Amino acid sequence: MRSWWSAPIVIGAFAALVWLEWRRPLRSQVEPKLTRTARNLTVAVISAVAVLLMEAPVALGLAALVERHDVGLLNLVQLPAWLKTILAIVLLDYTLYLWHVLTHKVPLLWRFHLVHHVDLDLDASTALRFHFGELAVSVPWRMAQVIVIGVSPLSYLTWQFFVFLSILFHHSNVELPIRLEKWINRLFVTPRMHGIHHSMVREETDSNWSSGLTLWDRLHGTLRLNVPQREVTIGVPAYRKAEDVELLKILLMPFRKQRSSWQLPDNGEPRRERLPLSSGNLLP
Ligand SMILES: [Zn+2]
Repeated sequence: MRSWWSAPIVIGAFAALVWLEWRRPLRSQVEPKLTRTARNLTVAVISAVAVLLMEAPVALGLAALVERHDVGLLNLVQLPAWLKTILAIVLLDYTLYLWHVLTHKVPLLWRFHLVHHVDLDLDASTALRFHFGELAVSVPWRMAQVIVIGVSPLSYLTWQFFVFLSILFHHSNVELPIRLEKWINRLFVTPRMHGIHHSMVREETDSNWSSGLTLWDRLHGTLRLNVPQREVTIGVPAYRKAEDVELLKILLMPFRKQRSSWQLPDNGEPRRERLPLSSGNLLP
Protein backbone atom coordinates (compact mmCIF):
# COMPACT_ATOMS: atom_id res chain seq x y z
CA MET A 1 0.00 0.00 0.00
CA ARG A 2 2.94 2.33 0.47
CA SER A 3 3.10 2.73 -3.28
CA TRP A 4 3.76 5.80 -5.36
CA TRP A 5 0.09 6.80 -5.47
CA SER A 6 -0.75 6.87 -1.76
CA ALA A 7 1.10 10.15 -1.06
CA PRO A 8 -0.54 12.07 -3.96
CA ILE A 9 -3.99 10.82 -2.84
CA VAL A 10 -3.41 12.01 0.74
CA ILE A 11 -2.04 15.39 -0.41
CA GLY A 12 -4.88 15.70 -2.92
CA ALA A 13 -7.45 14.91 -0.21
CA PHE A 14 -5.91 17.54 2.09
CA ALA A 15 -5.97 20.16 -0.70
CA ALA A 16 -9.58 19.29 -1.59
CA LEU A 17 -10.67 19.61 2.05
CA VAL A 18 -8.90 22.98 2.43
CA TRP A 19 -10.71 24.20 -0.69
CA LEU A 20 -14.06 22.94 0.63
CA GLU A 21 -13.38 24.54 4.03
CA TRP A 22 -12.96 27.84 2.23
CA ARG A 23 -16.13 27.34 0.15
CA ARG A 24 -18.40 25.73 2.77
CA PRO A 25 -17.11 26.30 6.32
CA LEU A 26 -18.98 24.40 9.06
CA ARG A 27 -17.89 26.44 12.10
CA SER A 28 -16.70 30.06 12.15
CA GLN A 29 -12.97 30.38 12.82
CA VAL A 30 -11.44 32.09 15.85
CA GLU A 31 -7.82 32.44 14.74
CA PRO A 32 -6.47 33.56 11.32
CA LYS A 33 -6.43 30.47 9.12
CA LEU A 34 -2.95 31.04 7.68
CA THR A 35 -1.23 31.46 11.06
CA ARG A 36 -2.92 28.35 12.45
CA THR A 37 -2.22 26.25 9.39
CA ALA A 38 1.47 27.24 9.45
CA ARG A 39 1.66 26.37 13.17
CA ASN A 40 -0.11 23.05 12.76
CA LEU A 41 2.01 22.07 9.77
CA THR A 42 5.19 22.83 11.74
CA VAL A 43 4.02 20.52 14.55
CA ALA A 44 3.15 17.97 11.85
CA VAL A 45 6.58 18.05 10.21
CA ILE A 46 8.32 17.39 13.55
CA SER A 47 5.90 14.53 14.21
CA ALA A 48 6.37 13.09 10.73
CA VAL A 49 10.09 12.80 11.49
CA ALA A 50 9.22 11.00 14.76
CA VAL A 51 6.95 8.58 12.87
CA LEU A 52 9.57 7.89 10.20
CA LEU A 53 12.29 7.30 12.78
CA MET A 54 10.30 5.37 15.39
CA GLU A 55 6.83 4.12 14.60
CA ALA A 56 7.20 3.06 10.97
CA PRO A 57 10.37 0.94 11.26
CA VAL A 58 9.29 -0.68 14.53
CA ALA A 59 5.70 -1.44 13.50
CA LEU A 60 6.60 -2.62 10.01
CA GLY A 61 9.57 -4.68 11.19
CA LEU A 62 7.34 -6.31 13.75
CA ALA A 63 4.55 -6.89 11.22
CA ALA A 64 7.05 -8.70 8.96
CA LEU A 65 8.04 -10.97 11.87
CA VAL A 66 4.40 -11.57 12.81
CA GLU A 67 3.66 -12.62 9.23
CA ARG A 68 6.68 -14.91 8.98
CA HIS A 69 5.98 -16.68 12.27
CA ASP A 70 2.15 -16.72 12.16
CA VAL A 71 1.76 -14.78 15.40
CA GLY A 72 -1.51 -13.24 16.64
CA LEU A 73 -5.27 -13.79 16.70
CA LEU A 74 -5.79 -13.67 12.95
CA ASN A 75 -3.17 -16.36 12.41
CA LEU A 76 -4.90 -18.85 14.73
CA VAL A 77 -7.29 -19.84 11.96
CA GLN A 78 -6.99 -20.33 8.22
CA LEU A 79 -8.53 -17.34 6.47
CA PRO A 80 -8.31 -15.98 2.93
CA ALA A 81 -5.74 -13.17 2.68
CA TRP A 82 -8.34 -10.52 1.75
CA LEU A 83 -10.49 -11.38 4.79
CA LYS A 84 -7.46 -11.26 7.06
CA THR A 85 -6.65 -7.76 5.77
CA ILE A 86 -10.23 -6.54 6.37
CA LEU A 87 -10.37 -8.03 9.87
CA ALA A 88 -6.94 -6.59 10.69
CA ILE A 89 -8.12 -3.12 9.64
CA VAL A 90 -11.32 -3.44 11.72
CA LEU A 91 -9.42 -4.64 14.80
CA LEU A 92 -6.74 -1.95 14.42
CA ASP A 93 -9.55 0.60 14.22
CA TYR A 94 -11.12 -0.77 17.42
CA THR A 95 -7.84 -0.79 19.33
CA LEU A 96 -7.19 2.77 18.13
CA TYR A 97 -10.53 3.68 19.75
CA LEU A 98 -9.26 2.17 23.02
CA TRP A 99 -5.96 4.03 22.72
CA HIS A 100 -7.81 7.31 22.12
CA VAL A 101 -9.81 6.77 25.32
CA LEU A 102 -6.54 6.16 27.20
CA THR A 103 -4.99 9.37 25.84
CA HIS A 104 -7.83 11.23 27.56
CA LYS A 105 -7.96 9.23 30.79
CA VAL A 106 -4.29 8.62 31.64
CA PRO A 107 -2.77 11.93 32.85
CA LEU A 108 0.66 11.29 31.29
CA LEU A 109 -0.91 10.58 27.90
CA TRP A 110 -3.32 13.52 28.18
CA ARG A 111 -0.34 15.89 28.53
CA PHE A 112 0.55 15.01 24.95
CA HIS A 113 -2.93 14.57 23.46
CA LEU A 114 -3.88 17.94 24.98
CA VAL A 115 -1.68 19.63 22.37
CA HIS A 116 -4.03 18.32 19.69
CA HIS A 117 -7.11 19.50 21.63
CA VAL A 118 -6.03 23.04 22.56
CA ASP A 119 -6.30 24.15 18.93
CA LEU A 120 -8.89 26.93 19.07
CA ASP A 121 -10.32 25.89 15.72
CA LEU A 122 -10.82 22.52 14.14
CA ASP A 123 -9.97 21.83 10.50
CA ALA A 124 -7.94 19.48 8.30
CA SER A 125 -4.68 20.98 9.63
CA THR A 126 -5.66 19.94 13.18
CA ALA A 127 -5.67 16.36 11.88
CA LEU A 128 -1.90 16.69 11.39
CA ARG A 129 -1.21 18.43 14.66
CA PHE A 130 -0.17 15.70 17.06
CA HIS A 131 2.75 16.29 19.41
CA PHE A 132 5.78 14.15 18.54
CA GLY A 133 5.70 12.89 22.14
CA GLU A 134 2.20 11.48 21.62
CA LEU A 135 3.46 9.54 18.62
CA ALA A 136 6.49 8.33 20.57
CA VAL A 137 4.48 7.09 23.55
CA SER A 138 2.04 5.33 21.22
CA VAL A 139 4.78 3.05 19.80
CA PRO A 140 4.44 0.32 22.50
CA TRP A 141 0.67 0.31 21.99
CA ARG A 142 1.16 0.04 18.22
CA MET A 143 3.54 -2.90 18.78
CA ALA A 144 0.97 -4.65 20.98
CA GLN A 145 -1.72 -4.09 18.33
CA VAL A 146 0.45 -5.70 15.65
CA ILE A 147 1.42 -8.70 17.81
CA VAL A 148 -1.94 -9.44 19.44
CA ILE A 149 -4.04 -8.98 16.29
CA GLY A 150 -1.44 -10.54 13.99
CA VAL A 151 -1.11 -7.70 11.48
CA SER A 152 0.87 -8.19 8.26
CA PRO A 153 2.86 -5.31 6.71
CA LEU A 154 0.30 -5.03 3.89
CA SER A 155 -2.62 -4.83 6.35
CA TYR A 156 -0.74 -2.29 8.46
CA LEU A 157 -0.01 0.01 5.53
CA THR A 158 -3.55 -0.35 4.17
CA TRP A 159 -4.98 0.58 7.57
CA GLN A 160 -2.64 3.57 7.88
CA PHE A 161 -3.71 4.85 4.49
CA PHE A 162 -7.44 4.63 5.30
CA VAL A 163 -7.18 5.90 8.87
CA PHE A 164 -5.15 8.88 7.68
CA LEU A 165 -7.79 9.80 5.09
CA SER A 166 -10.51 9.31 7.72
CA ILE A 167 -8.72 11.55 10.24
CA LEU A 168 -8.25 14.30 7.65
CA PHE A 169 -11.93 14.08 6.73
CA HIS A 170 -13.49 14.12 10.20
CA HIS A 171 -11.30 16.95 11.49
CA SER A 172 -12.16 19.10 8.47
CA ASN A 173 -14.30 22.19 8.82
CA VAL A 174 -16.50 21.32 5.86
CA GLU A 175 -20.24 21.75 6.00
CA LEU A 176 -21.65 18.66 4.35
CA PRO A 177 -25.38 18.61 3.56
CA ILE A 178 -26.87 17.28 6.80
CA ARG A 179 -28.69 14.39 5.14
CA LEU A 180 -25.51 13.24 3.43
CA GLU A 181 -23.55 13.49 6.69
CA LYS A 182 -26.21 11.55 8.61
CA TRP A 183 -25.99 8.85 6.00
CA ILE A 184 -22.17 8.62 6.09
CA ASN A 185 -22.26 8.80 9.90
CA ARG A 186 -24.13 5.53 10.19
CA LEU A 187 -20.81 3.89 9.37
CA PHE A 188 -17.99 6.43 9.52
CA VAL A 189 -16.86 9.30 11.75
CA THR A 190 -17.85 12.66 10.21
CA PRO A 191 -16.93 16.34 10.83
CA ARG A 192 -19.93 17.26 13.00
CA MET A 193 -19.51 14.12 15.12
CA HIS A 194 -15.82 14.75 15.73
CA GLY A 195 -16.50 18.47 16.30
CA ILE A 196 -18.44 17.41 19.42
CA HIS A 197 -15.34 15.51 20.64
CA HIS A 198 -13.34 18.76 20.38
CA SER A 199 -15.90 20.76 22.38
CA MET A 200 -14.71 22.51 25.53
CA VAL A 201 -17.58 20.95 27.46
CA ARG A 202 -15.91 18.00 29.14
CA GLU A 203 -18.88 15.68 28.91
CA GLU A 204 -18.92 16.20 25.15
CA THR A 205 -15.17 15.67 24.76
CA ASP A 206 -15.65 12.40 26.64
CA SER A 207 -17.59 11.02 23.70
CA ASN A 208 -17.07 10.21 20.02
CA TRP A 209 -13.66 8.57 20.39
CA SER A 210 -13.84 6.51 17.19
CA SER A 211 -11.42 7.31 14.36
CA GLY A 212 -12.84 5.26 11.49
CA LEU A 213 -15.99 3.25 12.14
CA THR A 214 -18.64 4.80 14.42
CA LEU A 215 -19.47 1.26 15.56
CA TRP A 216 -17.08 1.45 18.54
CA ASP A 217 -18.79 4.49 20.07
CA ARG A 218 -22.16 2.83 19.45
CA LEU A 219 -21.05 -0.39 21.18
CA HIS A 220 -19.55 1.43 24.17
CA GLY A 221 -22.43 3.89 24.52
CA THR A 222 -20.08 6.85 23.95
CA LEU A 223 -21.73 8.12 20.76
CA ARG A 224 -23.07 11.64 21.09
CA LEU A 225 -24.86 13.30 18.21
CA ASN A 226 -27.25 15.67 20.02
CA VAL A 227 -25.17 18.88 20.06
CA PRO A 228 -25.81 21.51 17.37
CA GLN A 229 -22.50 22.43 15.76
CA ARG A 230 -22.99 26.21 16.10
CA GLU A 231 -23.10 25.77 19.89
CA VAL A 232 -19.77 23.96 20.04
CA THR A 233 -16.79 26.00 21.24
CA ILE A 234 -13.65 24.22 20.10
CA GLY A 235 -10.77 23.84 22.55
CA VAL A 236 -9.90 23.16 26.18
CA PRO A 237 -11.23 25.58 28.85
CA ALA A 238 -7.88 26.26 30.57
CA TYR A 239 -6.24 27.34 27.29
CA ARG A 240 -8.68 29.83 25.79
CA LYS A 241 -6.34 32.63 24.75
CA ALA A 242 -4.43 32.79 21.46
CA GLU A 243 -1.23 33.40 23.46
CA ASP A 244 -1.78 30.07 25.28
CA VAL A 245 -1.49 28.13 22.05
CA GLU A 246 1.50 29.68 20.28
CA LEU A 247 3.88 27.28 18.56
CA LEU A 248 6.63 27.12 21.17
CA LYS A 249 4.13 26.94 24.03
CA ILE A 250 2.30 23.94 22.59
CA LEU A 251 5.57 22.13 21.85
CA LEU A 252 6.63 22.60 25.47
CA MET A 253 3.14 22.07 26.94
CA PRO A 254 3.54 18.36 27.88
CA PHE A 255 6.74 19.09 29.81
CA ARG A 256 5.40 22.01 31.84
CA LYS A 257 3.22 22.22 34.92
CA GLN A 258 -0.30 21.34 33.84
CA ARG A 259 -3.30 23.58 34.32
CA SER A 260 -6.55 22.05 35.40
CA SER A 261 -7.72 21.43 31.82
CA TRP A 262 -11.48 21.71 32.29
CA GLN A 263 -11.52 24.85 34.41
CA LEU A 264 -11.96 28.21 32.68
CA PRO A 265 -9.46 30.89 33.77
CA ASP A 266 -12.18 32.38 36.04
CA ASN A 267 -12.66 28.89 37.55
CA GLY A 268 -15.98 27.84 36.10
CA GLU A 269 -16.40 24.64 34.15
CA PRO A 270 -18.32 24.94 30.86
CA ARG A 271 -21.51 22.90 30.87
CA ARG A 272 -24.48 22.52 28.60
CA GLU A 273 -28.05 21.45 29.07
CA ARG A 274 -28.45 18.04 27.53
CA LEU A 275 -30.78 17.93 24.61
CA PRO A 276 -32.97 14.84 24.50
CA LEU A 277 -30.64 12.00 23.57
CA SER A 278 -31.58 10.13 20.50
CA SER A 279 -29.00 8.09 18.69
CA GLY A 280 -30.52 9.29 15.44
CA ASN A 281 -29.79 13.01 15.81
CA LEU A 282 -26.82 14.64 14.17
CA LEU A 283 -27.80 18.29 14.27
CA PRO A 284 -26.81 21.07 11.84
ZN1 LIG B 1 -9.20 13.29 21.61
